[in-house]
Amino acid sequence: MEWIERAPAKINLTLDVLFKRDDQYHELEMIMSSVDLADHLTFTPLVENKIEVYTNKAFLPVDRRNHVYQIIKLVKEKYGIKEGMLVEIEKMIPVAAGLGGGSTDAAATLRALNQLWSLELSTKELIDLGMLVGTDVPYSITGGTAFVSGRGEKVRPIRSLPPCWIVLAKPRISVSTKTVFRSLEADKLNYEPKSRIVEKAIEEGDYKQMVTNLSNALEAVTFERHPQLKQLSDRMLRYGMDGVTMSGSGPTIIGFSQNYSRARRVYNSLRGFCEEVYIVRTLK
Ligand code: ATP
Repeated sequence: MEWIERAPAKINLTLDVLFKRDDQYHELEMIMSSVDLADHLTFTPLVENKIEVYTNKAFLPVDRRNHVYQIIKLVKEKYGIKEGMLVEIEKMIPVAAGLGGGSTDAAATLRALNQLWSLELSTKELIDLGMLVGTDVPYSITGGTAFVSGRGEKVRPIRSLPPCWIVLAKPRISVSTKTVFRSLEADKLNYEPKSRIVEKAIEEGDYKQMVTNLSNALEAVTFERHPQLKQLSDRMLRYGMDGVTMSGSGPTIIGFSQNYSRARRVYNSLRGFCEEVYIVRTLK
């Protein structure tokens, strides 16, 4: 029997770094939302005790460096499962882009294994397992629009965004999330957290308040290393986006508009300039 899971990308409307904790992790507050750009994962249970992962992106590792492989191994060990699993990942989400591609694949794998191996795990148990593989996995278990805090393990669903189009622009730059956080001097951040303001705007359906308070504490680090991202962000605003910010640790820059023709114009203008550009909507 085959099982298919859709694994949507996420965007950050906000990413606030509150402080660095004693355990060296950063305390975060973020507003995240799932969008209709998704990987597709096909799962086939195997009688043999092995894990096989395939993908359409040749550069992506399919061994224990792949989040999908890691989740299957973790679940097999924890629950003493002797059968195997074959997974085919049709990768549509840009990799290392700040769009949570690896995390959403891991979360989709947890959902699939829970069904295929009849594990009957609660959302809380899935979140705890997901956290072992990546800090964005807990959010991706349920997806939607959420206020996410702690290291990423506290997920509180909120209302969906007001209707809008979102342009995702990913230049040909690779950003390592670990390196960005390592370079962040949290105590020197001169920065006003915006997640609670944006949450309130979303709850009130106030699009204007939402887009004027988009914000990402990691922009300072990523823009310093890659000044062309600041130029891209400015360009998107100049072309008529209502609000622009960076997603995750970058490099994807996201812009919002309630007007489809305007979003389309920005999309067309950026296509020669950026490696990958998409127009998406958020998922309910
Ligand atoms: P985040 O926003 O959560 O920081 P990201 O979108 O910036 O994530 P990913 O696309 O998850 O980044 O890729 C980060 C790293 O994870 C890459 O170096 C990639 O090789 C590795 N990786 C492992 N498994 C996967 C997977 N299934 N899909 C994408 N990347 C994966």
